[in-house]
Amino acid sequence: MPTEQTCSRCRAVVMQEFSRDSAPEHFKAYWGQTYYSVLCISCADHLMTLHERVKGCPVPAVGMPLQEGLHFEMEGLNLVFTEAYHMMRGHCCRSSCKNCVYGLGAHQAI
Ligand SMILES: [Zn+2]
Repeated sequence: MPTEQTCSRCRAVVMQEFSRDSAPEHFKAYWGQTYYSVLCISCADHLMTLHERVKGCPVPAVGMPLQEGLHFEMEGLNLVFTEAYHMMRGHCCRSSCKNCVYGLGAHQAI
């Protein structure tokens, strides 16, 4: 019996872990920046799609406007950065952001 593993992102039990080796190079580079060790297929898929979408889109320079919907969303009076924004930035800011894509989000226990 193989030992049961859980996805570092959604905590689902992973029967077959997504293999780092099968990931495209650019995604492997991103993955290296995260705290995820094991990813399930659906989380890997979600992150890869997002990564593909923001590839080549840097975050706007300081002083440049951010786009609502792309970079942030308003939740009540709070400005919440999107997963896409965090992905574009390319590294974790360790602030337990709600939409952290590096494994240190507020809802993601490490
Ligand atoms: Zn998962």
